[in-house]
Amino acid sequence: MRSLIDIFDLSVEEVNGLLDTADDIIANPAKYSTACHGKKIATLFFEPSTRTRLSFEAAMIELGGNVLGFEAGGNSSSSKGESVADTARVVSCYADIIAMRHPLAGSAYVASKNASIPVINAGDGSHSHPTQTLADLCTIRRHKGKFDGLTVGFCGDLKYGRTVHSLIQALSRYTGIKIVLISPKELKLPEYVKYETIKANGMEYYETESMTEVIGDLDVLYMTRIQHERFASEEEYLRLKDSYVLDMAKMEGAKSDLIVLHPLPRVNEISTAVDKDPRACYFEQVLNAKYMRMALILKLLAEKDTEMPETDAEYREDLTCDNKGCIVTTEQELPHLFRKGADGKYRCLYCEHRD
Ligand code: ASP
Repeated sequence: MRSLIDIFDLSVEEVNGLLDTADDIIANPAKYSTACHGKKIATLFFEPSTRTRLSFEAAMIELGGNVLGFEAGGNSSSSKGESVADTARVVSCYADIIAMRHPLAGSAYVASKNASIPVINAGDGSHSHPTQTLADLCTIRRHKGKFDGLTVGFCGDLKYGRTVHSLIQALSRYTGIKIVLISPKELKLPEYVKYETIKANGMEYYETESMTEVIGDLDVLYMTRIQHERFASEEEYLRLKDSYVLDMAKMEGAKSDLIVLHPLPRVNEISTAVDKDPRACYFEQVLNAKYMRMALILKLLAEKDTEMPETDAEYREDLTCDNKGCIVTTEQELPHLFRKGADGKYRCLYCEHRD
């Protein structure tokens, strides 16, 4: 069964193909208006969402299909203790494809192993969010015409921001990309992204706490909000929540062809005065997300019988994942699967945290 759990489930050629399909949908929407006639997408959202859920639903409706689902885990049987695996099996009886968001890392992977229809990861905890990445790539390509050689800055909550992790993974497959990581030291990129993606691929990168130091070097600035819901301590959130605010004074130091992206929702990290600047592309990114999700639904439905390659994971009874945000910590019957990382350490298959 073909699913999209992380961005590496798509080859670079396939990502480029989805970008081309999205361009064609934008140019010829009528051509696609009945492409999914008679098909249903189930949107299973165990965590809040505005854009992702509505854009999956809008995407399916614009393809001529139908939508069912729930928008809060409290409205589903998970509140009675149903496992993700059982929910995925049940929903497979009603729909043709699933888009699922869940607060625990690895949840979409578990769903995909138990569903008999394709599963799209619409965000699993602080782990990954590959369809936001497709929207980000679409927006970058439509403005820059390429990925190779770009200097891309990521600013804000790089620790819990799942969209950052997935976009860095996607960019690691292009050439000559320079990554600039701008965050307070408490919210630095998780080491698994740094090791498995940035260092393992020999990407050039630079870390700083200062946005003004680097803004003038950037072709793309990817702003993120501080992910309040993932903090264990309210006090720490309050201390870090105003770490960065992009305003017009800072934009003056940026290139004239910079593009500013943000996966949204915005809290206060981009002043609304920036919205009028032609370099602000975050609302266009929202629209591109719908087109990329249309392209993805079409592809996964067309290729649903293609087998996904088996992972090279090992069952290790002697290792345990201690990440509280990982699905193995709540669904205790899941096998303890680990994979050896580029640095030789074992990482949990579900959340990628190191043992
Ligand atoms: N909407 C994005 C996500 O679901 C970004 C965010 O929530 O800050 O990860």
